[in-house]
Amino acid sequence: MSIPIVRAVAELRRTVAEWRRHGLKVAVVPTMGALHEGHLSLVRAALGRADRVIVTLFVNPKQFNSAADLAAYPRTEHEDAAKLAPLGAHILYAPFASEMYPEGFATTVSVAGVSEGLCGAFRQGHFDGVATVVAKLFLQTGADLAFFGEKDFQQLHVVRRMARDLDIPIEIVACPTVREEDGLAMSSRNVRLSRSERQAAPKLAAILYDAAARIAGGAPVDATLEEARSAITAAGYARIEYLELRAEEDLAPICFLVMNTFLFIWFLALSVRFEEQTQLLHLFE
Ligand code: AMP
Repeated sequence: MSIPIVRAVAELRRTVAEWRRHGLKVAVVPTMGALHEGHLSLVRAALGRADRVIVTLFVNPKQFNSAADLAAYPRTEHEDAAKLAPLGAHILYAPFASEMYPEGFATTVSVAGVSEGLCGAFRQGHFDGVATVVAKLFLQTGADLAFFGEKDFQQLHVVRRMARDLDIPIEIVACPTVREEDGLAMSSRNVRLSRSERQAAPKLAAILYDAAARIAGGAPVDATLEEARSAITAAGYARIEYLELRAEEDLAPICFLVMNTFLFIWFLALSVRFEEQTQLLHLFE
């Protein structure tokens, strides 16, 4: 069993046009490859809602703000194709950079508001790169549905806003974060953690969860975040980039809890960028 790999947008459009003639519903799952169970959960969700599923694999240079990070990003197309085939995904769209960004390419899609702050404050141009490539993938595939992970919560907001603002007729479906048995969120970057970082990483999720549970139980936000910051530092991670409470709806900063729809989110850097978050919403249930 194998999955067809498509490199050119013209070929992709021909296939999708044929599907459309048969009235089939099409979903897209954008990825940068090095697929793990988190990605595969999106593919399964897509197969549950659509007749045809396109998985895209493109390590998008425009969303990396460090050449070293781009060079070190894992590339495992052969293994990725082997993981997708048995699931029943229909096409692996893996365009070359020259197909996505031909000579003379000059357009940037930039989403204000939700792109600012959090990761946006630390990764200059990152969300412009994401919004640009995802807009292209939506227009190239013409999909009815697109599946994204809640793990990259700010990205999910950026993509939703972009599709709404540009009137791209696509439903954005959010899927829950898939974790390793010890609680660490699965990520293609986890292979780059050192052994000691990998061992300690689940502690960060536990500290975050504990702080979120206390806030959900009525503890003051500022003091609880301060304690969480100390606990994270004590666990050996001094380079915290942010530790903040944000509204789930629009990612606006908040400093006290007024109802049960808030997201607690933080992000820090180890030897690789590493992010983690907990939704307070789930702690009220
Ligand atoms: P990436 O290949 O890291 O760009 O991720 C592609 C898609 O998979 C994005 O929508 C991510 O949010 C999603 N994703 C990555 N890791 C996970 C995970 N552990 N659980 C669920 N979705 C994930």
